[in-house]
Amino acid sequence: MRFYMFLVSSREMLHKAQIGGYAVPAFNVHNLETVQVVVETAAEMASPVILAGTPGTFSYAGTDYLVGICKEAAKRYEMPIALHLDHHESFSDICGKVEAGIKSAMIDGSHLNFEGNIELVKQVVSFCHRWDCSVEAELGRLGGQEDDLIVDAKDALYTDPDAALEFVNRTGIDSLAIAIGTAHGMYKKEPRLDFDRLGIIRGKTDVPLVLHGASGVPDADVRRCIELGIAKVNVATELKIAFSDAVKQYFIENPNANDPRHYIVPGKEAMKKVVQDKIRVCGSEGKL
Ligand SMILES: [Zn+2]
Repeated sequence: MRFYMFLVSSREMLHKAQIGGYAVPAFNVHNLETVQVVVETAAEMASPVILAGTPGTFSYAGTDYLVGICKEAAKRYEMPIALHLDHHESFSDICGKVEAGIKSAMIDGSHLNFEGNIELVKQVVSFCHRWDCSVEAELGRLGGQEDDLIVDAKDALYTDPDAALEFVNRTGIDSLAIAIGTAHGMYKKEPRLDFDRLGIIRGKTDVPLVLHGASGVPDADVRRCIELGIAKVNVATELKIAFSDAVKQYFIENPNANDPRHYIVPGKEAMKKVVQDKIRVCGSEGKL
């Protein structure tokens, strides 16, 4: 019997996705139950998958706990799993987590100026590549809120295609998160994505491109982004809403419930449906 219990980098899976014309979904997880839902569903659908955690998630769960849970999931389903550092902003923080066994990192220097972003990213790339950890960076700035990070709409900036080319060449990153009109969190009104800009960026550089803030973006728009060259789609908020709404409903119907083995189940089931939907939208089913 063979056991696979490795956390892998996201480099291979994103390159395969880019060549294959689909995207790998990255789902934000927070604990045992959310990891169970994502990995079980991905395994059932034979989809490659990335499990993502923000700095807040790693602080909440404990890096070693989360790494341990994800490794066990990889072993249980005999599938390579990338546990990804989502929106990390500190070089030393990333170093510590790579040391803990994580091989996929995002360094978010999008709040810095262009040169400052490049310097920070280069530092992270030179460390991470020594240890086979892939690096995603962001150019441009998404609006909305992700954990403690709040970006006012007026500070959101779309990614400039020429700057993207220079950024990729000078940093040596493995994937690039771009800002084309999506935002973190749910949308008050339907987002209008700049597909032309995406197409131009795709024409300039061949690193896999990443779409953040996909929660609440209509499926057709996400599919169009993938056709135009997005290879990784991040989903966080929609999972949280589905999970917590179902648990809230359970408590309305069962106000005296107190057993987590019962009241968490409807949350997991609701989250699973979102994971299934997103895998279908990404076109990653059967691509493992
Ligand atoms: Zn993001």
